[in-house]
Amino acid sequence: MAKRSDGPPPLETEQKEFITPEQRQILNLVDSIPLQELETFIEKREREIERMGQADQPDNPLVQQILSLEERRSELIEQLVNENRPFIRGSFNKKTHKCGKKNCKCTRGEFHKSFQLSARVDGRTHTRHIPKSDSPRVERDTKRYQAWISSRAEIVRFCTEQLQLIDKRRSELLRSYPEGQPFPLPKSWEQNS
Ligand SMILES: [Zn+2]
Repeated sequence: MAKRSDGPPPLETEQKEFITPEQRQILNLVDSIPLQELETFIEKREREIERMGQADQPDNPLVQQILSLEERRSELIEQLVNENRPFIRGSFNKKTHKCGKKNCKCTRGEFHKSFQLSARVDGRTHTRHIPKSDSPRVERDTKRYQAWISSRAEIVRFCTEQLQLIDKRRSELLRSYPEGQPFPLPKSWEQNS
């Protein structure tokens, strides 16, 4: 802090015009306060202002995490909306079996093949037979469904994670007013927020 001279500083003639009687009064008041007291007051106030109002660093780790999740999430959204081919829910299964007839090729290890589509609905597994001619299409379309569903699940995971980070960020930025007398936290705020 700059050292003050003992009396009020002499004013330039141009400056005089810009000082109102009220401002002059304040300046005189400031001059009447002992220097040490004034310095302590200003330092305390500066620290308060720093705590209350200062923006934190632009590369805040939480903000960076939120942004990087946002980037990965938007890639997944793009994948989802760009998928416009139809798909089939369920899993495609290939089975091999012996028919039990004597002298059939299956007795020599060339098993019969059959194809099935199965899916769980409300806790119950449903199964459908797939004709051999449809099997390539059903296999391809169920794989497409599974890829789509797993992207969807990841989006949900990212959103949840992102919200947790956003709530943590809220805690970082939150200041109680007046200082030291915070409002109680709403019940809906999780422990981590
Ligand atoms: Zn057979």
